[in-house]
Amino acid sequence: MSEPAPEQPTNFIRQIIDQDLLEGKSGHRVVTRFPPEPNGHLHIGHAKSICLNFGIAQDYQGHCNLRFDDTNPEKESQEYIDAIQEDIQWIGFEWIKTKYASDYFEELYEYAIQLIRAGKAFVCSLGPDEIRQQRGTLVEPGMESPYRNRSIEENLDLFQRMRAGEFREGEHVLRAKIDMASPNINMRDPVLYRIKHATHPRTQDKWCIYPMYDYTHCLSDALEGVTHSLCTLEFEDHRPLYDWVLDALETPSHPRQIEFARLSLEYTVMSKRRLSLLVDGGHVESWDDPRMPTLSGMRRRGIPPEAIRDFCDRIGITKKDAFIEMSVLENCIREHLDPRVNRIMCVLRPLKVVIENYPEDQEEIFSAGNHPKDPSMGERSIPFSNTIYIEQEDFLLDPPDKYFRLAPGKEVRLRYAYNITCTDVIRNDAGQVSELRCIFDPESRGAGARKKKVKGILHWVSARHAVDAEARLFDRLFRLPYPDAGEDLASALNPDSLEVLRDCKIEACARTLDAGARVQFERQGYFYLDGDHHDAGHRVFNRIVTLRDSWGKREGKS
Ligand code: ATP
Ligand code: MG
Repeated sequence: MSEPAPEQPTNFIRQIIDQDLLEGKSGHRVVTRFPPEPNGHLHIGHAKSICLNFGIAQDYQGHCNLRFDDTNPEKESQEYIDAIQEDIQWIGFEWIKTKYASDYFEELYEYAIQLIRAGKAFVCSLGPDEIRQQRGTLVEPGMESPYRNRSIEENLDLFQRMRAGEFREGEHVLRAKIDMASPNINMRDPVLYRIKHATHPRTQDKWCIYPMYDYTHCLSDALEGVTHSLCTLEFEDHRPLYDWVLDALETPSHPRQIEFARLSLEYTVMSKRRLSLLVDGGHVESWDDPRMPTLSGMRRRGIPPEAIRDFCDRIGITKKDAFIEMSVLENCIREHLDPRVNRIMCVLRPLKVVIENYPEDQEEIFSAGNHPKDPSMGERSIPFSNTIYIEQEDFLLDPPDKYFRLAPGKEVRLRYAYNITCTDVIRNDAGQVSELRCIFDPESRGAGARKKKVKGILHWVSARHAVDAEARLFDRLFRLPYPDAGEDLASALNPDSLEVLRDCKIEACARTLDAGARVQFERQGYFYLDGDHHDAGHRVFNRIVTLRDSWGKREGKS
């Protein structure tokens, strides 16, 4: 018997379930389901639904079914079925047996026969356009189909012949006989079955009639003994149909549909169908492109699944649609990574610095904590030599007042090492700064640093010991906050969403990192060693997130 879960933050759905359990509805148990259509990869909006459905099942000692809603054979594939399962497991949930709406095709067909026998469904021979035209509008009732009063025998005969493959697509459909004057358009004799001569990824060519979503979903829920069918608000207007079908038939149970607000995130889109346009149009590398809001893209970018679960908890479950700022997700990622990952230094855009008073054949090793606040995370060794790299943006030829980084004649501190002063600037043929000459202050080593304080502290990497790497920096995939508002998704894309830096230099200890490792490159952000490109000679680091929210500033937000 399920007990309410008192420790969990409550929400209106948990309150409804608590009340149902108190009143002994749904047989004192809680069964939920997550019902994706296998027509693409899951996105972070699905994570909200996954955390809600699987989370409630866990907390009430019930279970949550994964059920593929596979009723549109042309758009669905085994590849998507596999990808979706991998994504749910990655988020951190398990289920007992994978279910498919197509497993119920035979039962659904039998139920349709029952509806016909009860005079509650009929075969309509209007074309799809005529059905649409006759459906009416929000202010006008629809028109009854001229086929609405076919005899039960004729309906049974036609429906059986639809199944047998005697008709072309669009020639007939099966419709519920409800009310063409209903203020709810979903109740105006909705289509229950249509003919499709398509090969299904699982049932192959066994069927050429396929049930519609509204008819399939409630019956699949009832057949599985789902108690609470949680879905997004756009299905609120479909609930009367959900209940109508279950009331019209003798089903094992009558699940309760409850709607909640879908997740919408600024600067991206949340629909498999829309995202597939980006993949098919070649606007992104693939479904798992690290800029995509897909779970596979987030995994490949290096976002930890715990941060996604935390994000879903924080945004909560409500009944009001709203856009969430990307910074909310990014903060969850930073908060998860900050106490957990090692710090190392990486120069993303190197500028060579030769320290002229440091002997060429000399080397020394500095040591630094892997984490500034957590000694239990251990220490690393940082080799130093006379040639190092610093960040190009840490040097200015002609600095403004209060510039604390390197400039001709200025002194800065190399983190964990010495102070250096720039003595000379070397330029290439194009006149650009290509190398700096500096001198170091031997007194500034270790404790000596305290005597002589300088304001600028730079990260650096010893040239001789550096590990070469590529870094990929990501920006928002879209330049518009609500890209879905416009007609053309591609024109809303941010042309600068990907920057590839091929000549990065990382501290020697990066050699020991394995694919899948997450680190903080000091001053640069959190990075992930992308397994897809990882081999001994070539390391690609994806920037998971910057250290601070720089986006808000750029947008003029506070
Ligand atoms: P499509 O673009 O193909 O319609 P979809 O993104 O709507 O895709 P579905 O496969 O229809 O995805 O959704 C599976 C489940 O996930 C549904 O229960 C749906 O309500 C839920 N879901 C989909 N998008 C979101 C979202 N943005 N926020 C919360 N739940 C969502
Ligand atoms: Mg959908």
